[in-house]
Amino acid sequence: MTNADPAAPTLFERIIARQIPAQIVYEDDDYIAVRDIAPKAPVHLLVIPKQVSTRVDEITDAGEMGRLWLTAVKVAQQHLSDYRLIVNVGRGGGQEVFHTHIHVLGGWEGAAPVGFGQ
Ligand code: AMP
Repeated sequence: MTNADPAAPTLFERIIARQIPAQIVYEDDDYIAVRDIAPKAPVHLLVIPKQVSTRVDEITDAGEMGRLWLTAVKVAQQHLSDYRLIVNVGRGGGQEVFHTHIHVLGGWEGAAPVGFGQ
């Protein structure tokens, strides 16, 4: 799932461009949120900036980072009262799609599973 050709559009760019189907749950000028195709929780959403960075630590502007997190919280609150936000950073951090995104997970019966849960 890694973007082998760095010049090629990422998987999420192709979703944004409607070249790949996805269940879109939120969209504005700067962000899109979709249901994860292989959910690791009863509710599993991905909040994705349209402006591409490869991984979240490439974002150095506090405003941009803040808007990303605020959007993730807004999307999470539209679906869940309690939730878990996860960002995988780099291959060693479990990242598979090299286009920054925040996972929103939740909807478990009772308490969330201990640990990563993703
Ligand atoms: P990460 O491991 O943090 O890069 O997460 C990438 C996520 O993208 C994984 O949870 C995948 O299940 C998910 N994914 C892969 N392909 C698609 C797709 N076509 N539509 C929605 N989610 C996808």
